[in-house]
Amino acid sequence: MPDAFRPLYTTTAKPQVNAPPLAGETRADVAIVGGGLTGLSSALHLAEAGLSATLLEARAIGNGCSGRNGGQVNPGLKLLPDAVEARWGKDLGGRMVALAHRAPGVVFDLIDKHGIDCAPARTGTIRAAVDAAGVAELRELVRQSAARGGAVRLLDGAQMRAATGSDFYRAGALDPRGGHLNPLAYTRGLALAAQRAGARLHGESPALAVAREGGLWRVRTAQGAVLAPELVIATNGYTGDLWPGLKRVIAPVYTYIAATDPLPEALRRAVMPAGSALYEADWEGVYYRLDEAGRLLIGGRGPQRDARSAADYRHLARHAEARWPALKGLDWPFRWHGQVAVTADHFPHLIAPEPGVHLMLGYNGRGVAMATVAGAAIATRIASGGHARIDLPVRPRITPMPLQRFWRAGAEIATAAFLLRDRLRGR
Ligand SMILES: Cc1cc2nc3c(=O)[nH]c(=O)nc-3n(C[C@H](O)[C@H](O)[C@H](O)COP(=O)(O)OP(=O)(O)OC[C@H]3O[C@@H](n4cnc5c(N)ncnc54)[C@H](O)[C@@H]3O)c2cc1C
Repeated sequence: MPDAFRPLYTTTAKPQVNAPPLAGETRADVAIVGGGLTGLSSALHLAEAGLSATLLEARAIGNGCSGRNGGQVNPGLKLLPDAVEARWGKDLGGRMVALAHRAPGVVFDLIDKHGIDCAPARTGTIRAAVDAAGVAELRELVRQSAARGGAVRLLDGAQMRAATGSDFYRAGALDPRGGHLNPLAYTRGLALAAQRAGARLHGESPALAVAREGGLWRVRTAQGAVLAPELVIATNGYTGDLWPGLKRVIAPVYTYIAATDPLPEALRRAVMPAGSALYEADWEGVYYRLDEAGRLLIGGRGPQRDARSAADYRHLARHAEARWPALKGLDWPFRWHGQVAVTADHFPHLIAPEPGVHLMLGYNGRGVAMATVAGAAIATRIASGGHARIDLPVRPRITPMPLQRFWRAGAEIATAAFLLRDRLRGR
């Protein structure tokens, strides 16, 4: 399907990670399933803590969300800080908010520390409002951020025009802690750092089954097995049946991205001159940024299945043209999609259903920063024998999403309902 799936990052990220398939039986302190940011950050931080970690990835390292996302390094959780504290209490909720706010800084520091070549840009993240409800939400975000000594700043329509080059927005909230990067290059860089620290990584090694064997977990692949007292499963939007019921925690919602070639100089000055990452606080969930070569990457909703042709991405070019009419007629040679793990309560889920088991998933489209810090938190928890206080809730059991089996229909119905709403409002 070359026409339906032409990802950009495989041409811009270097280098490929050497992670041979697992062959034979091996022992480790920790077995990790999933070679995305959660699994790799766990592996890196475990190895740095002196524990042996063996990671199994079904395909290539970074093949999941981590190597195909929008590259936005977003501070904060999906819900506003007050809602986080209302749900989890002042202490844990407050620590979760603080963790999510410092998470982009952790990412950029890791990039510096390990010399990861992934075009990091600490240019801030803008949450943009297209209607009155969105503006009210931004005001509330800025108020809650100020109450916590935060740095989020409200941009009015004129300031948004200056930052984006578009008349499309009523307002924005600029968080200078955010920014963007090449996500596949970052993921591969984290993998190389984990290997240098001593972690063993195996690609093309789907975990087929886990079973208790004495005091250990046996994680079986086609040609081998890892035996370890601790098990991390970090399969996110690509979660299958490895752990009973785990895939019911999330809806693996499709999101699509299209990218241009480097824009001609005049357009480059007119589109996103501030160089920030931007996402719209709206149902379509449009997000975009310019990369280091001046390519425009724009993402948003799409069909809730694998793409069949370039036609499945055409609405993304239309989104871009609605924001910058000067882009009309531009070519969009790159296109790809992935499955974001959405949870019913909009929080990531770290679940410890049995001693020595850590299931981590559900970043609701904000995992570049959060998966990095969640992996580090899991490593801290394991290295401390489960005693260290971490800044994420640890749930004792899996909570399935209501009606999860119907997620595909649900996502499509929600899209249709919002489309209808917008037509009625004449947008
Ligand atoms: C198109 C897209 C755009 C996004 N944009 C952004 C963004 O701009 N900013 C942001 O913060 N977040 C974004 N996200 C979300 C973000 O990418 C994720 O939250 C984050 O990468 C999750 O990392 P992870 O390691 O938990 O999961 P993943 O990176 O998905 O890794 C899970 C891995 O598990 C592997 N796996 C599954 N089953 C098995 C098995 N049985 N055995 C071995 N391996 C297995 C999969 O192959 C996969 O590689 C986006 C996601 C998508 C799909």
